[in-house]
Amino acid sequence: MSSRLTVRQFFERFPSDDACLDHIMEVRFGMRHVCAKCGKEATFHRLQNRKAYSCSQCGAHLYPCAGTIFQDSRTSLQSWFYAIYLFVATRHGVSGKELERTLGVTYKTAYRMGQQIRDLMKKADGFEMLQGHIEADEAYVGGYRPGKRGRGAAGKTIVMGLKEREGRLHAEVIPNVKTATLRDVVIRNVEPGTTVSTDELYSYGLLECQGYRHGAVKHGAKQWAKKDIDGVNHHTNSVEGFWKMFKNSVRSTHIHVSHKHMERYLGEFTFRSNHRQMENAMFDLLIGAL
Ligand SMILES: [Zn+2]
Repeated sequence: MSSRLTVRQFFERFPSDDACLDHIMEVRFGMRHVCAKCGKEATFHRLQNRKAYSCSQCGAHLYPCAGTIFQDSRTSLQSWFYAIYLFVATRHGVSGKELERTLGVTYKTAYRMGQQIRDLMKKADGFEMLQGHIEADEAYVGGYRPGKRGRGAAGKTIVMGLKEREGRLHAEVIPNVKTATLRDVVIRNVEPGTTVSTDELYSYGLLECQGYRHGAVKHGAKQWAKKDIDGVNHHTNSVEGFWKMFKNSVRSTHIHVSHKHMERYLGEFTFRSNHRQMENAMFDLLIGAL
């Protein structure tokens, strides 16, 4: 059964700002919980004309949006929820123009909302060391011209991706492709002892000395997969697939992403890649991470 939330289901679930506020309260605190003020287990009731709930035991007020991206926003909660829904439902990302049109807000507001939702996605994804069989591959993204996959193409940002076969993905911006840089990203994100497949950029011995088991395919010599003596199949097809989709999406949805903002877009696409089997859960993960 598909876990996809349709537009219709979205509006049935969140028909008003009040419904959205109740949902934030439910996910972040619960309508019944131990009150931080009086320390008693209490039920919380919505206050009229305020985005707050009051404790049935001591009357203290709780604002569930306090400290979140919604706190000082003049955009309605339902518009925010719908924007988050669009980010969850898409595969190729949501442009500022699309948000502007769909929500009827200014471009400036739409752009800012998009950036805040991307940051939220990065935060919600959390951190876990990768394990199992990892593929590592770097890519050159951005720039105004669809340049060749040359190393160090001008105007492009270098990004590195690590992907568990059939599993989680981690991606980040890197300053260069020096041995020490590549090794550092692997050490920070991959459990020692893990098998890592790369292309020939990663020299032999680069990872073995850290307790990783490393296999490289020679893309320069048109070698795309290689079985090692223990039958482990080395290739980087899944992580390359992610980079291909990411580059196409950036080109078609955003035209250009500057170096400064690349980490945000990586966070967005990584979050979706890591949770794409459960769209409903994605939505609540984001509300929970507010
Ligand atoms: Zn209380």
